[in-house]
Amino acid sequence: MVPGKCDILVIGGGIIGLTVARELLLRGAEDVLLIEKESAPGKHASGRNSGVLHAGVYYTPDTFKARFCIEGNRRMKEYCREKGLPLLDTGKVIVARKEAEVPVLEELSRRGRANGIEVKEIGAQELKEIEPHASTCDKALYSPNTSVVDPVKILQALENELLSSGRLAIHYNTAFVGLSSGRSVVTSRGRVTFNKLINAAGAYSDFVAHAFDAGRGYRILPFKGTYKKLHPEAGHLVRTSIYPVPDLRNPFLGVHFTRGVYGEVTIGPTAIPALGRENYGLFRGVGPESISILWRDAVLFVADRAFRTVALTEVRKYSRHVFTEEAGQLVPAVKNSDIIPCSKVGIRPQLVDWRRKRLVGDFVVLKDGDAIHVLNAISPAFTSAMPFAEYVVDRLLS
Ligand SMILES: Cc1cc2nc3c(=O)[nH]c(=O)nc-3n(C[C@H](O)[C@H](O)[C@H](O)COP(=O)(O)OP(=O)(O)OC[C@H]3O[C@@H](n4cnc5c(N)ncnc54)[C@H](O)[C@@H]3O)c2cc1C
Repeated sequence: MVPGKCDILVIGGGIIGLTVARELLLRGAEDVLLIEKESAPGKHASGRNSGVLHAGVYYTPDTFKARFCIEGNRRMKEYCREKGLPLLDTGKVIVARKEAEVPVLEELSRRGRANGIEVKEIGAQELKEIEPHASTCDKALYSPNTSVVDPVKILQALENELLSSGRLAIHYNTAFVGLSSGRSVVTSRGRVTFNKLINAAGAYSDFVAHAFDAGRGYRILPFKGTYKKLHPEAGHLVRTSIYPVPDLRNPFLGVHFTRGVYGEVTIGPTAIPALGRENYGLFRGVGPESISILWRDAVLFVADRAFRTVALTEVRKYSRHVFTEEAGQLVPAVKNSDIIPCSKVGIRPQLVDWRRKRLVGDFVVLKDGDAIHVLNAISPAFTSAMPFAEYVVDRLLS
């Protein structure tokens, strides 16, 4: 059973819930309860991502993403060094595959500079020195501050730190079920009364917010991120991370190569419309809500050009041929037989502004009395988590 009351209740044990809880403790909070519906932290997006600490190239300076990613990158690296957690400062390149992508690459370069981060436009020759097998039609962008980490190790370190404080309890296998009254919630293991609440429920953050009658105009649509791997014998074809120039109208970065912290090279993730918030397999996670998810997909397909482009281009990546072709545009030496299956799969819970029928590009934080709802903590929220948590706690306490 959960304790009947607490001062601050945090819902969700992903990177956002854990870093928010840590921030509360750093500010002297005494009685924090974190509930998580799974048996351990990071069973969803936070433990299933690419493990890239993004440098902050993609985002315009007026966004939360730019504001928190750059500082978050620095702070997460510091945390890994302090705790002795795996961290590889690999850097990354973004390559223009065709002439039409060059102006977009230049825009990314401008955004990077406007955000005050180190980015360098390089030609084909310099690209060869960094990534001998990557291909570009003309230019590439080099970001030296991109790094890779082991997200699960970071989550475990945070969990240990929280539990050892003695001022916070984590209750696993405990789901938020609904609101009982203004300051009392029903969980799967009893009622809890709280003074303040933070909703960091990731893919279910809209469900929790709606129970509080907050964020009614938002809905979450799940997108499946599948990966493949490079056969270890072909691993030498990729030294760092190689990304395509993305379509800036949508929030996804395109299938890319990432050399992980343990040396393995993954290819992906895709961003294919999924049938459930936890639809990790073909049928796993498909349920009664799948019908309304399909309905939302259909409505958006008609109403939003950016969604239509994502849906049409991403669904094709289920085809091995198309996936290999995309990978080959970045690294032509990669052969079909070099690409092997990978069990990793994540779901990106993408927020939709349902009134405007648009995918939301930035993080959204709603304050409703003594409750804060963190919606749309999409990539790069793992990178951004520490300063983002600081902001969320500022809002809660203000
Ligand atoms: C495929 C993929 C690749 C990505 N790559 C990167 C990357 O390289 N770098 C980067 O910075 N970001 C990346 N991201 C984004 C990043 O992983 C997320 O932004 C981040 O993990 C979101 O954290 P969260 O805590 O909000 O969500 P989650 O990790 O999903 O945590 C939410 C938690 O809430 C719990 N929960 C839900 N409902 C309830 C309930 N009713 N009661 C109790 N608990 C509940 C869930 O079980 C879950 O543990 C990627 C994401 C995906 C999917």
